[in-house]
Amino acid sequence: MLYISSYVFGIVMMNIGFQLMAAESIRGEFEKLAMTDALTGVHSRRAVVSAAHACFQRSQRHARSFALMMLDLDHFKSLNDQFGHQIGDQVLQAFCRRIETSLRREDVLGRLGGEEFVVLMPDKNAEQATQIANSLVNIQAAADAQLPSTTVSIGVSEWRPGDASLEDLLARADRALYAAKASGRNRAIMA
Ligand code: GH3
Ligand code: MG
Ligand code: MG
Repeated sequence: MLYISSYVFGIVMMNIGFQLMAAESIRGEFEKLAMTDALTGVHSRRAVVSAAHACFQRSQRHARSFALMMLDLDHFKSLNDQFGHQIGDQVLQAFCRRIETSLRREDVLGRLGGEEFVVLMPDKNAEQATQIANSLVNIQAAADAQLPSTTVSIGVSEWRPGDASLEDLLARADRALYAAKASGRNRAIMA
């Protein structure tokens, strides 16, 4: 009798263990989904903003360089209008693959929304990041036989010791992006 009840108890406990493991793995899957942009597979807005906060804190604490780029595809609305949303989606995916292959392991590419992206570059200053941004502009402008071509505009900013928060850095990159758009698109401008 004792043998049977401890056997049953063992089975029940094992079952509970498996259920907990399954719940844990489902939770992990959900977390991964929330951190990944469904269309492009790059970091989600939530994930990249959180990584940007971490980079910013690291720079504040240790005065380490940190640059970021804001990227926005040019005239994307007319590309959608002309070729359809589905082709637009493929252009976004191809864009991300192209950018990813040009970045270092420690750089973070995330989608802020729509056709707007951000790249975090720890330990790079604005000059270095702008050089890379210019190469990304050129790579994107190079003809792609499979998909309609699009160009990208990029605003670059770097962490400054006087920055109060990440928002200062983001606002400068945004202003630089606006300047890149206003001065003809298909270019990178440093704040
Ligand atoms: P600009 O050069 O000034 O950036 O012009 P734009 O047309 O790129 O900018 P605008 O913000 O007017 O348009 C962005 C367009 O991006 C509008 C929307 O149709 C498209 N868009 C946003 N999200 C998606 C998406 O997930 N897939 C596709 N295919 N299009 C999207
Ligand atoms: Mg936009
Ligand atoms: Mg755009």
